[in-house]
Amino acid sequence: MKFWNSKLKNSTEYIPGEQPGDVDTYIKLNTNENPFPPSKAVLDALRNSCNESLRRYPDPEAKDLRSAFAAKNGLKAENVFVGNGSDEIFSLIFRGFIEGTQTAAFPYPSYSLYNTLAEFNGIKYETVNLGKNFEYNMDGFLKKKYSLAVIANPNNPTGTLCGIKDIKSFLGKFKGLLVIDEAYNEFYGDTALDLVEDFDNLIVTRSFSKSYSLAGLRIGLAVACSDIIKGFLKIKDSYNIDRLALAGALAALNDTKGFNYNIQMLRNNKEYMEEMLQALGFTVVPSRANFVLVKHGKKKALELYESLKEKKILVRYFTSPAVSDYIRISVGTMMEIKTLVKELSVILEA
Ligand code: PMP
Repeated sequence: MKFWNSKLKNSTEYIPGEQPGDVDTYIKLNTNENPFPPSKAVLDALRNSCNESLRRYPDPEAKDLRSAFAAKNGLKAENVFVGNGSDEIFSLIFRGFIEGTQTAAFPYPSYSLYNTLAEFNGIKYETVNLGKNFEYNMDGFLKKKYSLAVIANPNNPTGTLCGIKDIKSFLGKFKGLLVIDEAYNEFYGDTALDLVEDFDNLIVTRSFSKSYSLAGLRIGLAVACSDIIKGFLKIKDSYNIDRLALAGALAALNDTKGFNYNIQMLRNNKEYMEEMLQALGFTVVPSRANFVLVKHGKKKALELYESLKEKKILVRYFTSPAVSDYIRISVGTMMEIKTLVKELSVILEA
């Protein structure tokens, strides 16, 4: 740590879900990746982009992808920014859109990377607790003069949602910058994108990691008023998105049929998984994402996590007190869900 600065020394490390070296020997339901592969159209576009043009830098402003996303969603390209995953966008927000003297607010429990990135960037933050059933309490974000609030919608790890009506009425009262993280939006809809036209203090982020099955490609988007987008373009690394990622994401956006098919399969599998888990006696938190947070009266969450891992099934266990009674399970393929349910019933009987 000899050369680490104080922000680096004093911040809490973000611990992502395990990515074991021998990942293919596991049923991996711990990081909310999409269980289905990218569509053929996307893989073809990626293969076709593996050519001589890789010697050239990519478009620093990702204009084609921004225009395509804007056209698809009734926006203007000047309202769209492309980041290296939505994680990069959060990092840029803490670097460029809040002062070190100001305070941010995040929900708890939520995506703890917000906390880590705020710390790395020397930003103070407070947390606002979700309710008893993990519902959002937006009034909690009005208790103090927060300069920035980041809300995952649906939330991770709970899968719970803040309704668009509530977001709209919150924006009527909140004077800081509101970031709505819609990484899991496309599975069930209900987006805040349309509000960007009316509120210049709103940033909506999207991810290609979940619904587009492209976690490995690293593409995220921010949608906001053109002034905020100009700020993002100024602060980002010069070529933050590589040529392959741009090509793959563009093909994914254009492949509406493949996208809809993927989402429908995911929803069917989620419904099946929820039914089977309930039949095993699990309490399932109602989720609007591609994962569910569950607990069981007969077995501790840590024991469930460890027993499943022994059987080569990875789920997510959190030590954080609000959710330490639960495990979070990403929706898998039908085969994966069937194996999970079979192994869980053995574990619960033991
Ligand atoms: N937001 C939330 C709420 C998430 O759970 C995740 C993934 N863990 C992300 C953002 C990160 O998305 P990306 O892969 O686009 O960086």
